[in-house]
Amino acid sequence: MQTSTRNSLLLKRSLDAVWHPCTQMKHHQYQGQFPLIPVARAQGCWLFDFDGRRYLDAVSSWWVNLFGHGNAHINAALIDQLGTLEHAMLAGFTHEPVVELSERLAQLTGNQLGHCFYGSDGASATEIALKMSFHYWRNSGEPNKTQFVSLQDSYHGETLGALSVTDVALFKDTYAPLLRASTQVQSPDWRLAEPGESQEAYALRAAKALEAHLEQHHESTAALIVEPLVQGAAGMAMYHPAYLGEARKLCDRFNVHLIADEIMTGCGRTGTFFAYEQANITPDFLCLSKGITGGYLPLSVVMTRDTIYQAFYDDSVTRGFLHSHSYTGNALACRAAVATLEIFEQNQILTKNRMTSAALTRACQKIAAHLNVMNFRNLGMIWAFDVATRDPAFARNFHRRALDKELLLRPIGNTVYFMPPYVINENEVAVLAMRVRDLLNA
Ligand SMILES: *Cc1c(COP(=O)(O)O)cnc(C)c1O
Repeated sequence: MQTSTRNSLLLKRSLDAVWHPCTQMKHHQYQGQFPLIPVARAQGCWLFDFDGRRYLDAVSSWWVNLFGHGNAHINAALIDQLGTLEHAMLAGFTHEPVVELSERLAQLTGNQLGHCFYGSDGASATEIALKMSFHYWRNSGEPNKTQFVSLQDSYHGETLGALSVTDVALFKDTYAPLLRASTQVQSPDWRLAEPGESQEAYALRAAKALEAHLEQHHESTAALIVEPLVQGAAGMAMYHPAYLGEARKLCDRFNVHLIADEIMTGCGRTGTFFAYEQANITPDFLCLSKGITGGYLPLSVVMTRDTIYQAFYDDSVTRGFLHSHSYTGNALACRAAVATLEIFEQNQILTKNRMTSAALTRACQKIAAHLNVMNFRNLGMIWAFDVATRDPAFARNFHRRALDKELLLRPIGNTVYFMPPYVINENEVAVLAMRVRDLLNA
């Protein structure tokens, strides 16, 4: 069969049978508006269609990929695991990959968060953290702590509980009648600073809003949930670590849990293995997903402290955490995650990333200085900038024009961001920066 025929046949079958995520399907109907791209295979930072057309995966396939597609080390680990155990239920049973992963993750938190509870995706990690926090307070004689606080423009997933603490209108407004009320406090996003106000001063000012809220509502508040340092879906809004320091103090003072949603920021993305390390704090709950399996398999984990774990440890069944997913602790996914952590360890990834990060920032100098570009920002392996535009469909149009230049980019509103796999090389860095500059000039 001709390759271009394979492309178009797959597209047609997909449009007939697959309901694609986060998409108005009608926009796919006309190729020109929002093309659907067939992926035949992938290697390193590149996705290929059946014609050999290629796309640089500059968003790590929705922020999940760390070490490239078709990574040899993860592949080998998975093939080995397939020959041993693909999956067994975790209720009443255990296996090597889930134990190994839990021990390694605990070590990465300095053994502060020594208990790992597993889910299958980011949103379910948020659900788990919220339920666990509430249940902890209930077990501790504080059943009135039923409320949650999050930041303005926060994103914690799209199942009903997670959506309740999410604050992105596009995802939330339609479903508002189904959601629990929650409170959003002022975002520390430094773009909101007054002229002349430093990022740190603004972060401390935003923390005052949290203080005011907790002063009034701490008796009914179970937890504050935050995306440490970078609010991803808000458009890579970045903020000073001082906010997390203040949030930690306020949570301690008012007896409220601090949930760190590091589903996107974890696994080295912001320069440290966990973003919260940059504020010298430890959260009470830590949610991980996305990059944890290197972008191979769906897996999430909620980690917590021994003191919280102990509040569930009892003779009574109902004081235990009664939550489960069929694929909890899936052996293949856990093995992929262990292989991912091995790559970090064996290859000094955090050190290497500092060089990659500096190189991409240097390559972006002309973008940062572009007349239509505002708020150029970078943290670790995340870059973002806002584009002055009058096009209401900027995100879609930029995405399509980037595809013509072999780049997979999905702007959020008028924010263009790069979140490439850590293995992006010098040549690919140059291609990305040069072609985006061309797109801005066009
Ligand atoms: C992606 C994301 C989620 C949701 O994860 P899913 O796997 O898409 O459910 C939650 N929080 C943050 C910060 C995320 O980036």
